Amino acid sequence: MLKDIFPYEYAESVYGIDYKKLYDMGYRGLIFDIDNTLTHHGDDATPEAEKLLGKLTEMGFKVVLLSDNDKERCDRFVKNCDVPYVCDADKPHSAGFKRAIQTLRMSKKKTVCIGDQLFYDILGANRLGIATIMVHFITAPGETRIGKRRYAEFSLLRLWKHTRLCGRLGDIFKED
Ligand SMILES: [Mg+2]
Repeated sequence: MLKDIFPYEYAESVYGIDYKKLYDMGYRGLIFDIDNTLTHHGDDATPEAEKLLGKLTEMGFKVVLLSDNDKERCDRFVKNCDVPYVCDADKPHSAGFKRAIQTLRMSKKKTVCIGDQLFYDILGANRLGIATIMVHFITAPGETRIGKRRYAEFSLLRLWKHTRLCGRLGDIFKED
């Protein structure tokens, strides 16, 4: 069903979201994908990503990372930040998302999931009734090749923009 695959909102990056607006809407829990959402696939956390996660915790959000990657990768990502994670999530299956919600100790209705993949992050969270923000995937400098799945995502997002499912969260963007 398209409703399950379409994000509530789309942002260019995790830094283009105004988290204060999400907070004011009543959201208190944030589930972040790691690879190509917070950092390029497999890379260590950038100082910018660490700063963002710290700031969100200070703002009063509960934050959890949800990754299909293994414990070693997640441990490496969080080595300088105090954020819990759920690894080996097997998205879009619900078990990992449920573990993330349990880790947050937050209701699904007060939680937003932020990730770069429609068929994994967005689909999995949507099916549980968790609001979703898709972000444009991070690429390495000079990286131009993208897989077939990305083309499918682009097509679906173009379609999404013409439906009333686009913009379900309202204005969540930072002012320029
Ligand atoms: Mg990802």
